[in-house]
Amino acid sequence: MIKNGKKLKMIFLGAPGAGKGTQSEIVSEKFNIPAISTGSIIRAAIKNGTEMGLAAKEATERGELVPDSVVIGIIKERLAEPDCENGFILDGFPRTVPQAIALDEMNVEITLVLSIEVADEKIAERMGGRRVCNKCGASYHIQYNPSKTAGICDKCGEPLSIRKDDSPEIVLSRLATYHEQTEPLKDFYGKKGILKLVEGQEELSDTTALTLKAISDSLE
Ligand code: AMP
Repeated sequence: MIKNGKKLKMIFLGAPGAGKGTQSEIVSEKFNIPAISTGSIIRAAIKNGTEMGLAAKEATERGELVPDSVVIGIIKERLAEPDCENGFILDGFPRTVPQAIALDEMNVEITLVLSIEVADEKIAERMGGRRVCNKCGASYHIQYNPSKTAGICDKCGEPLSIRKDDSPEIVLSRLATYHEQTEPLKDFYGKKGILKLVEGQEELSDTTALTLKAISDSLE
């Protein structure tokens, strides 16, 4: 998306289950720029049994991060694709300070970092209802964002599934990982003056409205 000569090259930050994936998909469709989810790329690699998938499987299933070098390689390749030229949305990358530094070193100019803020108690409550499409990566929630036909992806008609790492014990481990390794990125991007916080709302459409407002402000 280009407005006032500015492109949207943004990052979604937030705890697992805060709604990064859902908001990324909405922004991607609205502005016709790709949403890049390292989590979806990793899940596809695990499903296809690639070398990278095999290396990432255990860490992902334990709720831990896969090594920086692996995800940095994925993002470097993906951002070099021509569809990223006019803007992109990063969902789930960077997740550590070294990943953010690597992104800087790729000379990728990020225009906006939006952190969706949701309390840990709410996250644990939400995760049980999450469903994902293993084919296209679309995400749903049985209560807050249901698919049109229960259990079937609206976009590609594939059956939806529950992510292995959405079980209650693993969610706790993922939240701990988030606070320890990813939350420091708020400080990293706050210092650069490109961080905005969006309070995650009960209604998905209300979070979307706040997200779109923050994006529009960043393009003024
Ligand atoms: P997500 O779908 O974003 O919740 O990611 C699912 C899992 O993939 C995470 O719990 C990590 O194991 C792995 N993962 C995704 N993105 C990253 C990243 N940027 N760095 C390290 N691990 C990642």
